[in-house]
Amino acid sequence: MKEKNKRQLAKLKYEEKKKEEEKRQKFEQEFLKGIQNEEFKVYIQGKVDAKTEKWIGGELLVRWKKENKVIYPDEFIPLLEKYNLISKLDYYMIEKAYYYLEKWEKEKKNSVHLSINQSLLTIKEENYLEKIKEIQSSYSVLKNELEIELTESVFVEDRFSLQETIQRLHQLKIQVSMDDFGTGYSSFHRIQDYEIDTIKLDKAFLQEERNLKKGRIVLESMIQMCHRLGIKTVAEGVEVKEQVNFLKRIGCDLLQGYYYSKPIPMEEFEKEWN
Ligand code: C2E
Ligand code: CA
Ligand code: CA
Repeated sequence: MKEKNKRQLAKLKYEEKKKEEEKRQKFEQEFLKGIQNEEFKVYIQGKVDAKTEKWIGGELLVRWKKENKVIYPDEFIPLLEKYNLISKLDYYMIEKAYYYLEKWEKEKKNSVHLSINQSLLTIKEENYLEKIKEIQSSYSVLKNELEIELTESVFVEDRFSLQETIQRLHQLKIQVSMDDFGTGYSSFHRIQDYEIDTIKLDKAFLQEERNLKKGRIVLESMIQMCHRLGIKTVAEGVEVKEQVNFLKRIGCDLLQGYYYSKPIPMEEFEKEWN
């Protein structure tokens, strides 16, 4: 390559890097401002007991309300992960979960089960468990339960330290769930490798139209297998009555999806539940 071309290429690369760095800084500032101004809103999607169809609690899902716009997690979580900011949001959500668990422990007769999503980058942080302990120590929660949802891909990583993290979470009375189960990683033997409490069957199982009959046989067998291993099952993405009937028949424990409720602001959920 000619000297002039090389110089041009280097300049282009430099400009690109500079632009990317400016983008990162702008996003970071907006995010930190957003956390400070409580722009991150906690939504909840209820889960029901398949047998009684009564609420048992739900999954917390975050929304970013910025200048009257609602931004969905799929738009900003990948950026938070890319720029290594995700743990700040994840700890923020744990704190919110304990706030509600404590509040509801005082208000409600039945015990409540909440789950939150945590990124692999967060649970890999060196002081992750200390951070959780610190948050826990500000709240008094005796009977209500917290569960951490980890996407199936997390379980492909670094097996032994993850198992230790799971054990230590159990010591802190926090359950662990494998989210989006069946979405493509070699998941089956992961079930035996880790002491997980719950499996969340990915919504694709219910939406699969190419071969509904076979898909349902797979689903039924997975639920039986989980039960024999002492693992609870949750079906997510439940949208129609027919799916409810089927899931009840095959013994799925908990149901979650638009059929029962979309994710709604916490305040609304509290009103509806009482
Ligand atoms: P996810 O954990 O798999 O959450 C379920 C997603 O499916 C939610 O999207 C929910 O709105 C949607 N959904 C619920 N019911 C139905 C249904 O019946 N049909 C269909 N088609 N979809 C349904 P959402 O809220 O946009 O969240 C997207 C993802 O963002 C979540 O996927 C989760 O992985 C991540 N996420 C959300 N909040 C947090 C958080 O606080 N921390 C981290 N690290 N990730 C989060
Ligand atoms: Ca989840
Ligand atoms: Ca999921």
